[in-house]
Amino acid sequence: MTIRFGFFLSIILSFLILLNSCNTEKQVEDPFVINGSTMGTYYTVKIVKNDSLFTKEYYESLKNRIDSVLYIVNRQMSTYMEDSEISIFNSFQDTGWFPISYDFAYVVKTALDISAKTDTALDISVGPLVNLWGFGPGKDRLNKLPDSLEIKNLLSLVGIGNLDIRLKPPSIKKAIPEMYIDLSSIAKGFGVDKVSELLTDDNHNNFMVEIGGEVFARGSNHLNSPWKIGISTPNETMGIKKILSIDNFAVATSGDYRNFISIDNKIYSHTIDPRTGWPIRHNLASVTVIHSKCMVADGFATAFEVLGAERSLKLAEKLKLPVYLIVRDDNEFIEYMTQEFTNFVIE
Ligand code: ADP
Ligand code: MG
Repeated sequence: MTIRFGFFLSIILSFLILLNSCNTEKQVEDPFVINGSTMGTYYTVKIVKNDSLFTKEYYESLKNRIDSVLYIVNRQMSTYMEDSEISIFNSFQDTGWFPISYDFAYVVKTALDISAKTDTALDISVGPLVNLWGFGPGKDRLNKLPDSLEIKNLLSLVGIGNLDIRLKPPSIKKAIPEMYIDLSSIAKGFGVDKVSELLTDDNHNNFMVEIGGEVFARGSNHLNSPWKIGISTPNETMGIKKILSIDNFAVATSGDYRNFISIDNKIYSHTIDPRTGWPIRHNLASVTVIHSKCMVADGFATAFEVLGAERSLKLAEKLKLPVYLIVRDDNEFIEYMTQEFTNFVIE
C-alpha cells in the first residue's frame, strides 16, 4: 500500500512538475524586464511584449545582445578599462591623429558641441582633476584636500581647445601629449541611446531603457498609458519631486547628492569646475534635462550642474531646452523650470 501510494504520488508530482515547466516555457512576462550592470551602475530595460513579432527565444537572447552593445561602448569609452580605446589614447603621448571607432569620435564631437554651447562648463579634458579628487578609476576616496599647486599644474592640461576630432576617418588628436579625456559625463546617456537603437531596429515601439538614472522611453507601457518617469528629491529620502510623461524622449539628471566625498565635514561633488579645478560648490542640488538623445541630455545636465542655477536657467531658456532645476535653500528645495519643460510634467 505504501509502495503504491508512493508510486502514485511520484506520478502526480512529475505531472505537476511537467505542467509547471510547460507554463514557464510559454510565459514571457509583460512588460519583459531585463536588468544588468554596466558603467559602474545598473541598467533596466522594459519592453511591452508583442507576441506576434517575437518568440520566447528572441526574448531570451535579448539580454546577451544588450550586454554586448554596452560592452562595446565600454571597450571604446571607459577610462575604467586599461585597454579601452580611450585609455590607450590617454596614454598615447603624441600629438598626431589617433584613429578611433566612429562611435567614440561621435560622442567626443557631441561633447565638444555641448561645451561650445555652455561656455566650456562641460569639459571632457577635466579628467586629470577628476582623478586627483579621487573620482576616477583605481583611486581611493580622498581624506584630505589635494595640494593647490598640483591642482594648478593639472589645470594646464585642461582645455578642449587643445583637442581636435574628425569623423572621416574617425580620429582624435591632442595638442598636449599628457592630455587625458574622461567621457563619464555623457557615456551613460550614449549607452541608453545605443540600447534604444537596438530595440528600435528590432521594431519595438513600446519600451523604456534606463542606465543609472538616465532614461529613454518610447510609446506606452504595458497598461497602454504613457511611460512615467519620476524625478527624485535630491536627498536620502528617496522621495519623488516630479512625475513626467515621456514618449520618444530621454531624461537625464545630474545632482550633487549622490556621488561626493566628505573632507573635514565638507561635501565635495564629483562634478569639477574646469575653470578652477575644484568640485562645484553652489546650491544647485539637481538638474534634469530632456532631449531626444540621452547622450545630449546627459552632457547638458553635467554642464548645467557646473554653471549653477542662475546661469543654467538663463542658458536653458535661450537654447529653448526643457530643463528643471532644484535649488537647495537652507532646509527647503526651490524648483525652477523652463517653459519647454512644463509640457512633460504630469504631477
Ligand atoms: P551623474 O549623472 O552620476 O551625476 P554626470 O553625468 O554628471 O554623472 O557625470 C559626472 C562625471 O563626469 C564625473 O564623475 C567625472 O568623471 C566627469 N566630470 C566631472 N566634471 C566634469 C566636467 N566639468 N565636464 C565633463 N566631465 C566632468
Ligand atoms: Mg551627465
